[in-house]
Amino acid sequence: MRRVYVNRTLNLKRINYIGLDMDHTLVRYNSHNFEASAHAIMLKKLVEDFGYPKSVLKLKFEFNRSIRGLVVDKNLGNILKLSRHAAIRVSSHGLKDIDFNTQKKLYKSTYIDLSDPGYDTVDTTFSIAFCGLFAQLVELKDSSEPKMPEYNRIADDLIRCLDRAHRDGSLKNAVAQNIEQFIVKDEAVVRGLERYIKHGKKIFIVTNSDFHYTKLLLDYAINPFLKNHSSWVDLFEIVITSAQKPRFFFDNLKFLKVNPKDGSMTNLEGPVTKGVYQGGCATTFTDDLGVAADEILYIGDHIYGDIVRLKKDCAWRTALVVEELEAEIKNLELAQPIATQINALMQEKVPIEIEIDDLVSEKIEQNKVENDGRISELIKQVGDIDKKVGPLIREQQKLFNPYWGEVMRVGIEDSYFAYQVERFACIYMSKLADLLELSPRTYFRSVRRPQAHELTIESTQGW
Ligand SMILES: [Mg+2]
Repeated sequence: MRRVYVNRTLNLKRINYIGLDMDHTLVRYNSHNFEASAHAIMLKKLVEDFGYPKSVLKLKFEFNRSIRGLVVDKNLGNILKLSRHAAIRVSSHGLKDIDFNTQKKLYKSTYIDLSDPGYDTVDTTFSIAFCGLFAQLVELKDSSEPKMPEYNRIADDLIRCLDRAHRDGSLKNAVAQNIEQFIVKDEAVVRGLERYIKHGKKIFIVTNSDFHYTKLLLDYAINPFLKNHSSWVDLFEIVITSAQKPRFFFDNLKFLKVNPKDGSMTNLEGPVTKGVYQGGCATTFTDDLGVAADEILYIGDHIYGDIVRLKKDCAWRTALVVEELEAEIKNLELAQPIATQINALMQEKVPIEIEIDDLVSEKIEQNKVENDGRISELIKQVGDIDKKVGPLIREQQKLFNPYWGEVMRVGIEDSYFAYQVERFACIYMSKLADLLELSPRTYFRSVRRPQAHELTIESTQGW
């Protein structure tokens, strides 16, 4: 079964350069272990650097508290799950669900404007700990620590803690000391890259991680499996570290040349050629190498930093790694028998609801008050069906995240995250190896998506 999913037709034969993000794309993490470590480091910093009460140290990490695509409302202390139209479909405050009526009162029926700085999104797995911890801290403030700062301050403090943890080396040191706990080695990736290089593809990296961390991870995850290259420095055409994505894609920052032996840096004189760099920008990169934008396929996992901004500013082709997809597809298969039962029950409701509407219309238009008995009977029948559907939906949802359900859907609608994937990623998959196991000559064809009006025309179904 092919495990690369296509939104827009993409012919790999036309792709000469393949760009890779490093963290969570080229190099896979044990996300649970890494986010647990980020959670612990943030708690420590909250107490030591930001004066939070020691009671926060008791908060236990729970990976399931957050999924990708969720939105943090920093001002109200809520977490939101949006539909493709950015309408709120599920929400929570602290660790409790917000019921539909309260949610309606709080937000009316407005669509969320994600460019508003009052909102923050879980764009990458690196934000799972942040979002879950925000919910825990809101809960703690409401229940027993009212002196904690306002919700938006808590969110900003957490973002600062996470930034510091990345910058001051706390997270990197944790990884360096126990690398096998955090990083997943994947021989298939290295095998695939060497095969793609044989076909003339040039592979480059654009990562926001600094040179030393990049070296740590690539020495560990790439070098042991190389057959035709002496090290990752030889394997990759160009490695750009500390790239400051998404700025890399739209700004005009200068490249520094990095000496891979000791990490020392010099100003880049002349054009970008094979080697290791720091900083830079997409325009200089494509101009110096003389590559057309659509000859480049860039693969990343950060829906905003890697994919959305890139698609808006450059014409590179895009591929998104969605590590949650593998489990989600497995769960969809498990949920299939329940979904069939739900569909059958929903179909049973249709003729009953039509009959109710007809009887009510007759009552209004022809004053047929004698319809009341039958109407009540039918309403009861609908209620009985709903009573069967409710537990089935809960049983189905239990197969996915217990708090937030599916990553790609909210109810029957696409989630906002799924909309971004469809809109901005030409192809997507659960891991890089899924792409590299396919031929470098693959022609990915997009499928015809039925539009709502087409579903009524029988002959177009199943095209
Ligand atoms: Mg990444």
